[in-house]
Amino acid sequence: MNKQEYKKYLKSPHWFKLRQIYIYDNPNVKCSKCGSVENLNLHHLNYNNLWHERPSDLAVLCELCHYYAHFKSDDGRIGKIVSLGELLQTVTPRQRMEA
Ligand SMILES: [Zn+2]
Ligand SMILES: [Zn+2]
Repeated sequence: MNKQEYKKYLKSPHWFKLRQIYIYDNPNVKCSKCGSVENLNLHHLNYNNLWHERPSDLAVLCELCHYYAHFKSDDGRIGKIVSLGELLQTVTPRQRMEA
């Protein structure tokens, strides 16, 4: 998939509908990383099933966590996509301070 195709995707009714289902029509929606209910985005954990995503391909993330999810990407959008596990590790601040 190239950038142009992905741009088209982001403007598609399909993507709009996904966000509707996962975010706007979901009364219990929250960021899957930090639990925030503000500035939520729908994030692709992978692009393997583009146009027919399964729930495991997507994650609801707040703006900050979404930023971190793309932190490792070369072009900030489609690059190295981190898995949710890797994402959680990446974003979780160190819980323990040095003694
Ligand atoms: Zn994303
Ligand atoms: Zn978050």
